[in-house]
Amino acid sequence: MKIAVLPGDGIGTEIVEQAVRVLNALDLKFELETALVGGAAYDAHGHPLPEATLKLAKEADAVLFGAVGDWKYDTLDRPLRPEQAILGLRKNLGLFANFRPAICYEQLVGASSLKPELVAGLDILIIRELTGDIYFGQPRGRRVSPDGHFPGAEEAFDTMRYSRPEIERIARVAFEAARKRSKRVTSVDKANVLETFQLWKDVVTEIGKEYPDVALDHMYVDNAAMQLVKAPKKFDVVVTGNMFGDILSDAAAMLTGSIGMLPSASLNSSNQGLYEPSHGSAPDIAGKGVANPLATILSAAMMLRFSLNQPAAADRIEAAVQKVLAQGLRTPDIHSQGTTKVGTREMGDAVLKALG
Ligand code: NAD
Repeated sequence: MKIAVLPGDGIGTEIVEQAVRVLNALDLKFELETALVGGAAYDAHGHPLPEATLKLAKEADAVLFGAVGDWKYDTLDRPLRPEQAILGLRKNLGLFANFRPAICYEQLVGASSLKPELVAGLDILIIRELTGDIYFGQPRGRRVSPDGHFPGAEEAFDTMRYSRPEIERIARVAFEAARKRSKRVTSVDKANVLETFQLWKDVVTEIGKEYPDVALDHMYVDNAAMQLVKAPKKFDVVVTGNMFGDILSDAAAMLTGSIGMLPSASLNSSNQGLYEPSHGSAPDIAGKGVANPLATILSAAMMLRFSLNQPAAADRIEAAVQKVLAQGLRTPDIHSQGTTKVGTREMGDAVLKALG
């Protein structure tokens, strides 16, 4: 089993270090190979996704990714910015299905910004399409407006588009995932306004007929945003497009207490995957040793389950995380009165110990 380890920038290096320690403690045979990505790769090689890093990622069974980005790169041309590395990896590896579970651990109910009764027991799975939509649609650009409200003015434009096969495959992923859970899918769209999402809704409905045992409902994205903070436990599997999924999954993150707790998996059709925490490189806390490594450690568990076929090892990691939370250990982002504040490395130490 070959794992490409791409720590990236900011807290990426700190949190990935802890996840690698956990992986190495499992007595499984891995080949781990580390490479630069993001701003670190730009500084060293002049590109956020150097050829060698991309080659390594393509050859590996799975990629363990930290995070990329820092404000200091914001003035670079867009293709050279750190965030392009993650878009490039998604595109080149065909990682079209992004799984973002949002689980509110019993011990962290008080860390959520919502009332405990709204989030206690929360366990939802947001499935976001990852390689289409307005983030990749062409044409896009800046130009002098040929028409519109202000002809002759500078304008910018992007293109929202989805093809039928792209919608079909992500819909199938969602229905299959729902079959392993409580057999409910909510498809989130904006079919009332956007042609792209009318097609989305039509295709998801058609694919839904192949899964008569799974209940399907449809929700407009604005309502979904509202329902996520009003009654989040009503959802089970949510499937949506790239941009809506980007936004809704971050909102869901806060239901669980901290974005520092949320793992994610991005898979292609052969189950090769990229595993990363749902958060970014957190430049505001980078280098301070206070970042929460649990999202990355839980991402490593997802990697074992989805791409490396090691479900028992994944269970072991998840149980260890539950144990350290039960012991009251908390990084500052999830710390509250009566719990013990620890740093990134101490949290890693505790998970290692709890692995037994
Ligand atoms: P962010 O997720 O990095 O940080 C948002 C807030 O959450 C910050 O206050 C940060 O301190 C906190 N936070 C994030 N992860 C944490 C953790 N593990 N433990 C404790 N606190 C944590 O988002 P941002 O500030 O909007 O973006 C920072 C940089 O990250 C930008 O350059 C952005 O482009 C990039 N980014 C990268 C990815 C990625 O690599 N996939 C995703 C999102 C943002």
